[in-house]
Amino acid sequence: MSASVGIDLGTTFSAVAYVDPKTRLPKIIPNREGRNLTPSVIQFLNGEEIFGGEAEDAFNAGEENCVATFKREMGEEKPFCCIDGKPYSSEELSAKLLRRLKEDAEAALGEPIKDAVITVPAYFYSKQREATLRAAQTAGLKVKKLIDEPNAAAMTYGLNCWRENANILVYDLGGGTFDVTLVHMGKDGELATVATRGNHTLGGRDWDARLQEILIERFEEETGLDLREDREARFMLGGMAEEVKKELSAPNMESVKVVAKFPEYGKATISATRAEFEERTVDLLSRTGALCLAVLEEAGLAKEDVADVLLVGGSTRMPQVKAYLEKLFGKPPLSRVNPDEAVALGAAIQASKENESYVSLSVAVVDGKKTTDRSGIQLTSASKAVKAEKNLGNVGLLSLRETTAHAMGVVAVDKDNDRYYNEIVIPANHPRPVRAAKKFRFFPSPNGDNELAIYVLQGDDESPLNCQITSKYVASGIRYAKENAALGVVIRVQYSYDENGIVRVQARQDDSNVDLPIRKESLPSDLSAFGRPVSAAQNAKGAKGSIAIQGVGAQSLAHKYKAVTFSNVKWQKYDAVASHPSGAMFGEPSVHVVAEDKRIEFHGYNVSEMDEGVQYEIEPDDSFVIECDVDTSTIQPHPGGSLNISLGLIEAQLTENGGSFLISGKRVAQVGSRFHLRMSLSEGGKYEVAVDGKVVGEEFKASKRNVVVRFGFVHEDHYCKLLSHAYVSDISMSHAAASDGEESSEAETWDD
Ligand code: ADP
Ligand code: MG
Repeated sequence: MSASVGIDLGTTFSAVAYVDPKTRLPKIIPNREGRNLTPSVIQFLNGEEIFGGEAEDAFNAGEENCVATFKREMGEEKPFCCIDGKPYSSEELSAKLLRRLKEDAEAALGEPIKDAVITVPAYFYSKQREATLRAAQTAGLKVKKLIDEPNAAAMTYGLNCWRENANILVYDLGGGTFDVTLVHMGKDGELATVATRGNHTLGGRDWDARLQEILIERFEEETGLDLREDREARFMLGGMAEEVKKELSAPNMESVKVVAKFPEYGKATISATRAEFEERTVDLLSRTGALCLAVLEEAGLAKEDVADVLLVGGSTRMPQVKAYLEKLFGKPPLSRVNPDEAVALGAAIQASKENESYVSLSVAVVDGKKTTDRSGIQLTSASKAVKAEKNLGNVGLLSLRETTAHAMGVVAVDKDNDRYYNEIVIPANHPRPVRAAKKFRFFPSPNGDNELAIYVLQGDDESPLNCQITSKYVASGIRYAKENAALGVVIRVQYSYDENGIVRVQARQDDSNVDLPIRKESLPSDLSAFGRPVSAAQNAKGAKGSIAIQGVGAQSLAHKYKAVTFSNVKWQKYDAVASHPSGAMFGEPSVHVVAEDKRIEFHGYNVSEMDEGVQYEIEPDDSFVIECDVDTSTIQPHPGGSLNISLGLIEAQLTENGGSFLISGKRVAQVGSRFHLRMSLSEGGKYEVAVDGKVVGEEFKASKRNVVVRFGFVHEDHYCKLLSHAYVSDISMSHAAASDGEESSEAETWDD
């Protein structure tokens, strides 16, 4: 025999449950100490790892080598703590705790654990869910599914108190996180989440901190001693504050007295009243209330449409929470499930079930914003339609359909090429698992490694920096097709939001039914470029435009609309020599520079000093690449003159027979008359020039201020007669994609 269990991996406490095969009802599995809850605390003592009550006591006594609340940093790569010189991440610590929970449950059940459903806060991002999955694997657990904590609690509640057509608001205030979720109870046990919000740095600990402040003030009043700077004393008071908080939660407890004793400061009897505690924490409650209202707004419901508010999480034991919610919703909240155990019990119910299959995307555009089309779910607003409570009797009837907590998008470049924005692929609060794909346009270069950077965003905001940029994927092997050179190729990007709330990214080119190779790269540490304009062509400086082609990373981004091309860059050019400041002295006819999408054409005369021809400045933070095919046989400058192409420190001096490359004025290479040129400036300040795919010179210059890109003619005598037309062809200043001016459109999804 082997069992499927549900695990509530909490910030402060964890619990394990299973469905008793005899009763078909969920039940907590006590740990080896016989307790239903295991503190999420580990003590590292003389090479041993201590868990349970002992670790908790040690932690509360301020002992070193204890770790707690590590779930708060789940998914972060940096270590959560360092013990005996060894760093541990939240994921590693969670793995240790999970292993312990597994061992205890196996011992209690007397059989091995086959698989587990683990709960996570609804508001956990993809990377935090992935880290949870990995931690479970490390602990030797096979994960059947991750489910959201509030959904698990709602299942537990629904088992005994099913109310058909009811909208239930699950209010989960734990030790370190707050989640609020609106669920809908449909026909006979069909539970669906509608909308969810949360704050995973708001929880019981914040109440503890406020109470700790009160205790420090009292101690100071009594003794004149200030404990604020003393880490150890503060720590002890922190543990004390939690105890006082719990005591203040007891019925009719108006004030609590404690004896605070410190070796270095002596002792004092100090007290805290419920009234002052409530007054000092009222803002924390308001924050939870605001999120409740946000969820209702998202669901399009009014407060009156909430049939019941369900309390989950240890912190809902504070009487002010109940009072606050009663005032907000006009009815007392429910506390019919054990707030500490409901989550684990619900996970156990889910563990006894099969997982769901993918649904197709249903999107509605409301006020220009993409949202989930919920016309399919009947969200009954009138409480009249809610049927009387009934007991489902056993877990058989219950089923759960979860939703996406966050909208998922791609960082793309908008139609004017002037800013980065969040192109939403899957809206928030959509039933999951779900797949959706979108088309983007991309201009491959004939020579380069054509790679598309897909930055995955979670969040609703238009601006990428107001969302979570969760990961970076790079799709490679994008094929160049000469006949498509002008239009580019279509890349379909597909997001799969799986049943665990984890996102998978795939990409395909044109109509191919094979995925492009895709790899995950670590995110650049500085993503601030996404908050700056892509192109400063429109900036107030006027004629001199500047373009950022590759603001972040080495790969280009998907573009929604037409990319930067020569025709939409403001070129500094003179159509007549006479319009040049010193043109009159030449008395020559006209000079003409035509810059088109894939070519620059020079006619007639050009005046030197490089403030004509084509020229623009690059933003200091940009990366920039110029790629072009050069056939110098079309150039016939006046003797002594040359066609110059330059990017910052790099300069090419070309005549009809080829020419040379200079970096900072020093010659680095000689070229023949036909070649493929690539000049680049990457983010760190590295200038590089490559001819026919081979790097011929590079130089590093940290400062990238006033970097100028120029195409023009130079002659010692300050002007240069061009004897015939000259062309630089197949030029691209970006690998960046473009589309034909239409909005990125939906694409057919595909299975694996
Ligand atoms: P998590 O899900 O984050 O692990 P729990 O739901 O187990 O958290 O809740 C733990 C929090 O509940 C802690 O901050 C703890 O202080 C608080 N808590 C537990 N019992 C009480 C109580 N009687 N009164 C007030 N707070 C309580
Ligand atoms: Mg919890």
